[in-house]
Amino acid sequence: MEEKILILQSGKCAWGKCYACGWGKIDYGKPDLHKLKRKIDEFFRKVSNIDRVKIFCSGSFFDENQFPKVIREYIAKKCKEKNVKELVVESRPEFIKEEIIKPLTKYVNLVVAIGLEAADNKILEKYQKGFYVEDYIKACELLKKLGCKIRTYLMVNLPFVENNEEILEKSFKIAKKYSDEIVIINTFPHSNSQLFNLWIEGKWKPLDKKEFEKLVKPYKKYKNVEFDFNNFAFEPKFPKSMQKPLKGVGKEFLIHPYYEIWQDYICRFYEKPKEKEYALFIPCTYTKPYYKSKLHKEILKIVPKNFHLIVISSPGVIPYEFVDKYPFNAYDWPEWEETEEIKKLYIKVTQKRIENYLKTHKYKKYFAFLKPNSESFIALKKACEKLGIKLKLCVSNETWEKIKERKNPLLSNEALKDLKKCIEE
Ligand code: SF4
Repeated sequence: MEEKILILQSGKCAWGKCYACGWGKIDYGKPDLHKLKRKIDEFFRKVSNIDRVKIFCSGSFFDENQFPKVIREYIAKKCKEKNVKELVVESRPEFIKEEIIKPLTKYVNLVVAIGLEAADNKILEKYQKGFYVEDYIKACELLKKLGCKIRTYLMVNLPFVENNEEILEKSFKIAKKYSDEIVIINTFPHSNSQLFNLWIEGKWKPLDKKEFEKLVKPYKKYKNVEFDFNNFAFEPKFPKSMQKPLKGVGKEFLIHPYYEIWQDYICRFYEKPKEKEYALFIPCTYTKPYYKSKLHKEILKIVPKNFHLIVISSPGVIPYEFVDKYPFNAYDWPEWEETEEIKKLYIKVTQKRIENYLKTHKYKKYFAFLKPNSESFIALKKACEKLGIKLKLCVSNETWEKIKERKNPLLSNEALKDLKKCIEE
């Protein structure tokens, strides 16, 4: 089936309180008809004779305050003009009304997507969905009467659910009775949602691929059921209001909940780029983002594209793609404040984080360009030994003896020469 997606941002979701949703809290301002029409025209210019146009709107397509009648009809007419077979739109049940929907069905077949999430009123209440299963059913019955198709979103691993299998079975049964299509979605918290805070507090966490697949396996046999494991290439996005600098030395800065979330994400969800065949572990720098530092600039000049740069630092294991992201661009761990006790804890915590990383992400070879006496290197060495991984340190003993008393030993010509040689070999 050929389909095209149109993302329209207008107004604000009339509800905006769902527990895992951040999009519904964003206010795009009063609908600007000219702007919307321009965007719609631009989109439909590239559309003709396709099966579906899907509109995502963070809220309800049928809400007059988000999409006035004139815009809804404009889109429906465009679909007719361009021979689009079906138009998929999203809406909350309270906006599903005959007088709103009927005029559109003259132009195009409508598929209406409703985020039921779970067919259980107690869970819907806790999730702050703002409607009940009965409202969903009533909306579905009306849509059927009007000849529309129904697409239902179900979410798995919602907070407050004790038995995921049971609740999915119950929800699926009801959704199947009323829907033409079902999408089973793995719950991920948007930035600025209450669920994101719950994750930070360590009271909930998303299902990884294996857990999700196990849960949805019984539903793979059904036609018209889609599975969405990684909702829009999810990654932890901290809202601006939470982005404070994390500066200091101590347990609270080492096992900070923000770092823990990222380490969980990096180990269970992140997939390393396929072309990165060799791992090169490097140190952090005071300058952030790291690539602005003298040391990283030199490393970047030497290292070929198939080497994956991975920084080891107090936030944990940081693949280079993330160095611009908060909090990796806004922390500092002043080494001179370290005590023997915190150094020991750093090694223990970092070793565990590296082990978790290396258990999921495999490379052809493993290299390190770290100070041999640094806690980061000790942790890396221990992790590799435990996992039976051969690690090559790209600073020779001879070089280290020569440079170890210098201010920035890894920035010395001798060390960089070693790195170059190591990589070439
Ligand atoms: S999930 Fe949908 S209904 Fe709920 S707040 Fe977000 S946009 Fe609004």
